[in-house]
Formats: sequence, C-alpha cells, structure tokens
Amino acid sequence: MQFRRVLQKAFGLVHAVVEDFDYDEAEGAVVISARPVAKARNRCGRCGRRSPRYDQGAGRRRWRALDLGTCKVLVEADAPRVRCPAHGVVVTAVPWARHDVGHTKDFDDLAAWLAVHVSKSAVQDLLRIAWRTVGAIVARVGADIDAAVDRLEGLRRIGIDEISYKRGYRFLTIVVDHDTGRLVWVGPGHDAATLDAFFVALGPERAALITHVSSDMARWVRKAVATHIPGAIHCADPFHVVSWATKALDVERRRAWNQASGRHRVNMAARSDYRKTTGDARKVRAARYALWKNPEDLTVHQRHQLEWVARTDPRLWRAYLLKEGLRYAVALKGDEGKEALEAWLDWARRSRITAFVELARKVVDNRPAIEAMMDSRLSNGLVESTNTKIRLLTRVAFGFHGPQPLIALAMLALGGHPPVLPGRGRFAAAPSGRSAPSGLALG
Ligand SMILES: [Zn+2]
Repeated sequence: MQFRRVLQKAFGLVHAVVEDFDYDEAEGAVVISARPVAKARNRCGRCGRRSPRYDQGAGRRRWRALDLGTCKVLVEADAPRVRCPAHGVVVTAVPWARHDVGHTKDFDDLAAWLAVHVSKSAVQDLLRIAWRTVGAIVARVGADIDAAVDRLEGLRRIGIDEISYKRGYRFLTIVVDHDTGRLVWVGPGHDAATLDAFFVALGPERAALITHVSSDMARWVRKAVATHIPGAIHCADPFHVVSWATKALDVERRRAWNQASGRHRVNMAARSDYRKTTGDARKVRAARYALWKNPEDLTVHQRHQLEWVARTDPRLWRAYLLKEGLRYAVALKGDEGKEALEAWLDWARRSRITAFVELARKVVDNRPAIEAMMDSRLSNGLVESTNTKIRLLTRVAFGFHGPQPLIALAMLALGGHPPVLPGRGRFAAAPSGRSAPSGLALG
C-alpha cells in the first residue's frame, strides 16, 4: 500500500484523497495535504448541498488532527467558497471536519470523550489545547448527537430540579427520566419560562403521556407543571423535603449560637473573628456537622457532640429530633409514612420552635405532593445523584464560555448517548437501564 493510502486510512480521511505529506519544522508538525473526492467537493459548509463555486476563499487551510506518535498532525487543504442557494457565500464543507472549525472530527471526538472520562488537566496536557477550546468542542459534539437522537421520546415519569453554578450566581434547570435514569434536558435559568422551553420541546402530545413528575415543589415548577401537564401526579422529592428540615434546624442552630456564651461580639461578618469564638458558642458551631448528618453516619466524636447538645440546649436538641422525625417519616413511604407524617405535623405544630412551626405549615401546603411521593415510590436516589454529578461537572466546566458547553458536557456524561472514541462508530447508545455512564473521573 502506498504511504499516502496508509495516512488516509490512519487518519480516517474518508471521502478524501491524500495528495502529499511533509514535516513543517516551524510548526513541529506533520502536514498531510488532502482534497475531498470529486463527489464531496463544492458543497455548502452548512447544509452540504452541492453549489456553484464562488471564489478561492482565504487559500489553504489547516485542521488539527490526531497526533502521530509524539508529533502534532495538521491536515491541509484548499478552502474555496461556494454560493449556496439557502446560505449565500459559504466556505465549502470538508469531509474530515465540522463546518468552520480548526480541528478534525476525530480530534473533536477524542477531546469530547476525554472531557467526560478524565480530569481537566489531563485533557489539556494530552491534547495540548486550552480548556476553553475543549468547551467549544464539547458543545459541537453534543450538538451533533442532539441532532441524531430524540431524548424526549417515551417519557412517562420525570424529575425536575435546579442546579447552581458559577459560584451560585447562575442556575440550570434539569429534567431526568425516572425510568431510564437518563438526563434528558437541561436549560439555562430557573424559572417558569425556562421550564416552558422544555414543554415546548416536548410538545403537547408527548406531554399528555407523562404520568408522574417529581420536584422540590418550588412555586415556579408547580406553576409550569400545572399549566403543561395538569393530569400528571406531582410528587415532592424526598431529599428536598429533608433539606427543608435541615434549613429549619439551621435557624435554630444560629439562635443557639447567638445565645451561647463565648460568642465573639465584634465584627461577626469577618470570618477570622468568627473562628475566634470560644466556650459554648464554639461548641455549638463545631456541632453543626453532627446536626446535619444522618445518625447512622455519625462518628463517635460527633455522637458526643450531640449528647452535649442534648444536655446543654434542650431546645436545639428538640429541633434536631424534629429534623430526624421528618426524615424518618419520608423514608418510611406508603401508609406507614403518612401516619408518621401526621404524627410529625402534630409534634412540629406544638413544638413552639418558630422555624419548625413554619415548616409544618409548608409541609401541610405540600402534603398532597409528599403523600404522592410516598405512594409512587419514585426513586429519590436518581434525582439526587444526577444533581450531585452535575454539581461536580459545574466545577469541571469552570472556565468554559457560557452555559452551553456545561450543558453539553452534562448531556454527554449523563444523557445515555456518550461520546464515542474516533474510529469506533458513532452514536452507539449506552445500554438502557439505570446505569448512567460510569467513570466520571473528575479532578
Ligand atoms: Zn447551504
């Protein structure tokens, strides 16, 4: 086989002819000169339609390809322009790269695969590209997969949640499929308008097939659900209900800290001063992790901290028990859970602890949804674990430009259609079932 043919095979230059190859000393790269085969020539870069030649464009162009050994490789070709009836004057398509980008498809696919599977620094070091470039690549590989698969087909039971990113200043709304475990939709923002965009994409016919929806019961979610899928059963996510109780406990904990002796009274906002607290205030502050944690996960030391709280601050201790009581009722499910919830409401209402009296009101307000959750037994773990994984991804995606690369990365990692290594076939779907793609090695 001629070496030009070898290069054509090795670099996946389908529908192309290798004309020549050389080593560019200045670039430190192997340069492969190529041209599209006749039937792939003079096609619009945007739609692929064969169109009349317009001009020579900006002359020769180069695309970064997969490395050859330790060398960078560049594919070089003419980049004439055509006049497309639909898109006007456009640079012609080349079979080895997406429109108007500086990397070959194989390079893009490898970068997207790595972004999902290895750490940020590993991707940058291995491929010798900037993180922002990885973001752009992830977005276009994701867009290609989006164009080829319908993620919203067959949805019956969905979970809606919100995720903060950019240090809590920006939000994403996410939708997961309870039956497949897949992330099916992500949109920037967290309001009814954001969710409206999901229901527009879904369309009224498919929306009518949705039987269950779970969420944190935020007002904007309830509004959108009531508008678009009034027939669906709306369930409260148990982990959000427990987090309401944790927040109420926090209010009590701050009250206890304010009343405790040894609290530093000067410049409470400054963190260094906050750390200087002594005595009981210090102990209340130190006990906060013990108060938040599930009892079965407590360390011996944290158990002692709780015993100390029980002895010295009976009110904070009761607040703790109320939090645990709600967690218990929510975990029970079914009729047992409903009975426990009824008992808990009685207890909370009479507790004379303002935060929990208010929480009792909120629970009553959302009681149909909490009881529906107890009946439906929708998986709590699914929404919570997707939420956790996306929060890890938001840290990885820090440095990407805008929300789109982050959304694309989340869909590639958790959407059930992972990126495929170059040369291994495209759009190979993950096996269905609960297994989200593993190996989210995030560093
Ligand atoms: Zn066109």
